[in-house]
Order: sequence, then structure tokens, then C-alpha cells
Amino acid sequence: MKISVHGAAGEVTGSAYLVETEQARVMVDFGMFQGGARQEAKNALPAGLRPRRLDAVLLTHAHLDHVGRLPLLVKAGFSGPIHATDATRDLAGLILRDSAKVQAYEIERHNRKRRRAGKPLLEPLYHAGEVEQTLERFRLVEFDQAFAAAEGVTARYRIAGHMLGSASIQLQVQEDGRTMTVVFSGDVGPPGLAIVRDAEPFHTADLVFLESTYGDRDNKPVAETLAEFRTIIEQAVARKARILVPAFAVGRTQQILYHMDELFCAGTLKPFPVYLDSPMAIEATEIYRRHPDLFDQDAQALRRACDIARGQPHVVPTPTAQDSMQLNDAPGPCLIMAGSGMCTAGRILHHLKHGLWQPDTAVMIVGYQGEGTLGRRLVDGHKTVKIFGETVAVKARIHTLNGFSAHAGQSGLIEWFSHLAPGKPRVVLTHGEARGREPLADLIRQRYGLDPVLPAQGDQLTL
Ligand SMILES: [Zn+2]
Repeated sequence: MKISVHGAAGEVTGSAYLVETEQARVMVDFGMFQGGARQEAKNALPAGLRPRRLDAVLLTHAHLDHVGRLPLLVKAGFSGPIHATDATRDLAGLILRDSAKVQAYEIERHNRKRRRAGKPLLEPLYHAGEVEQTLERFRLVEFDQAFAAAEGVTARYRIAGHMLGSASIQLQVQEDGRTMTVVFSGDVGPPGLAIVRDAEPFHTADLVFLESTYGDRDNKPVAETLAEFRTIIEQAVARKARILVPAFAVGRTQQILYHMDELFCAGTLKPFPVYLDSPMAIEATEIYRRHPDLFDQDAQALRRACDIARGQPHVVPTPTAQDSMQLNDAPGPCLIMAGSGMCTAGRILHHLKHGLWQPDTAVMIVGYQGEGTLGRRLVDGHKTVKIFGETVAVKARIHTLNGFSAHAGQSGLIEWFSHLAPGKPRVVLTHGEARGREPLADLIRQRYGLDPVLPAQGDQLTL
């Protein structure tokens, strides 16, 4: 058996693993590379990969960096099943359709200039129609139920606690009369992440692919972050302020809505309007609501106590651009959640332009802000910023909350791995930059006497 690493090797995007035996070829995840032009240039089919000869694809979860290249396979003739949990299918549909839309928009913007310059026109990676063809290939997987993914390959999904429907995958691979067990952690969530159940580890493997995003550290405890969250909101309520929250539409938005529900439902706070100002976030929230079976006990209890009884009257979706513009006049206290998560585009820019210069406004940063983004400049305390070419003074209170990560920290990763460690598997660390995976490799060496492999893109492991 050979396994080739076609992404997320020494970095956090582009997850893709090709498992090949004498009888079968299976891809685990086929994600997009993200983070600027150099990264995006890697979004292609790996050289030598013949999608027609691929038997199946298995998905750990719906994030774009795990599913974003799937339509390339279908475009190139892949006609097998794409196995995923039902929540992953729903969320992947939303995310891939959005990706096609964003690409069409971006390509047209470039092509307008290229037409004028007499340059050849660019093509997107894929079109909306190819996304629909991809979605037709999805086949539903239940957690903890083994199924035949391809000849001689039995797969089993287990909860990974990272987002709705997210899974770790175990493959039992038969070749030459022997069975080898390979486990892919997928992205592992931290214990106690809102809404979803905690990760359930596997106990046997000959080979483990372990994510290492935060292999070097533990994130701030959620309880501490929630205490800060509550204080910020109480202070904003006291001064009848507007709270602006830039957030990614899938995952983080639902987490924040959940924590607002907790405050409102426990009677800690008198409910005020929470505007969900993003069509994608509105749809993602609907998908979350359709899968209460995947909620953890706390979320189920909250849903019974709060959601069903009162129907979340405080959450106000604002799907159209006109609804969104009307929020300029919405009185405080209110909370407006809009994308993009790093303030690089989207409706949040309009709200920031209207709110940043007003000292009463609160801006709550609840996710990672990449270098060079407007979100990062706010976190770094810039006194003025440019929005739509206009200089805007930053008088608002900027609060940065670091504890909402959907990735386990070092202790969580080690805890997850500790259930496999006694079997002395071979360990491969992926989905992490050097900063994350090297310290994790050291720790695994010290603690378990195992020597993890840190592959480069395109590396092949033979078992
Ligand atoms: Zn993820």
C-alpha cells in the first residue's frame, strides 16, 4: 500500500491523501490551497493522478481546505462515490457553491482588465454546474458504521468535534492476505467546543495521519474566553452600543449565536436583536438547525429550553443588501454578525465604515486574522484604516477574543493520539506549519518513543 500526501504538508490548507493498493485507489479529502496567489497556484490535479481510475473519495469535513478541489476530479472524469456524513454533504454544498460564485466574480474582475489589455482570458478552477455534478456523487455515511469504500478497503467514521458532521476516518486495508489499519485524524476539535460533540478517538492503527495546526501550544480555555465575551457584551448593553462581529459564515457564526442564546436563555441578559447579516451564514445556520441529532448534550438542552420554546426571536436574518443597509439605523444594543471573517470583503466592511469612528461601537474579533488583512490592523491597534479607499478613524473599542478556535491545542491532540499510541503506530504529522508540527513531533518522540514523519507535498509513504 502506498499513500501520497497531496496537500497540507507543512501548511494548513490543501488536505488530500491518495491511498493506493493493488486493487483500489481512494482519496481522503481533496481540499483547496488558500492564502494568496502563490498558494492558489497549487490548486490543480496532482501530476499523474487519473481521476477516472479513482474508486472513491472519503471526506473528513466540509471546510473548503478539505473539499475545495473536488469538482476538479469530477471535471476530469471521476465517477465514483464521494462518502461523507449528511451534515458534511449539506455544508460542502453550501461551501462549494459559494466557492464557484466567488471564483466567477474574481475571474470576471481580472478578465475585464485583461480584455482591455488584449491579454488571454483566465478560467476559474470550476463552474457552478461542475459543483452540482460533484454534489450528485455524494453518498451518506453514518458515524461508527463500517462500510466498504472500495475493494479491500473498509472505512469507519468517528466524531472529530471540529464542526458539524466532522469526522476522523479509519481505513482497514486488505492486501496480500494482510490487513493494515490507517487512521486520518481530520481536523480535531477542542474538548467543549460549542454545539458539537467532543472528538471520539480510534484505538487501533498501524499508520496515523495527525493534524498539527496547534501542535505547539494550548489555546486559552473556552471558559475564560466566554467570561470576556460576556463582559464585553454587558458593557456594550450598558451604553446601548452596537457590537460588530466579523465572522466566518460556517462554524464560528453558529458558535457565537449559541453563546448569545446561552446568555439570553439563562436570564443573564435581556434579549436584544442579533442580526445575521450574511446570506451564507443564514444558510449555514439553517443547516446546523436541521441536524440537532449531532448536537452535544448542552446544545440539545439549550435547544429544548430556549430555541424551541421561544423560537430565537432575537436572531434577525438580513438576507438582502437592502436589509443590510437598513442596519445603519438600527439602534443599540444590538449585535451585527457579518463576513468576511478577516474583514477583507463582504458586508462587515460597510458596518465597520459606519461604526469604527464612533467611540461607543464595540468590535469583537472572534477568529484568526491573517497578515495584511483589515482585521489584523484592527487587532494591532491602528488608529486609522482604509475602507473602500476612504480613511476611517478607529475610535471604537476593539476586543480580541482568542479562545474560540475549532482546533484542539497540543494537549487535545496528544490526548486524541494517546489512545492509538500503545499500538506503536507510524505517525505522520500534517495540517500544520513547521511551528506547529515540529514541537508536536518532539513531544511524541519524548513521550512515546515514536519518530513522526513530517512529509513534504507529493511525498509517498509505503507500507
Ligand atoms: Zn477544518
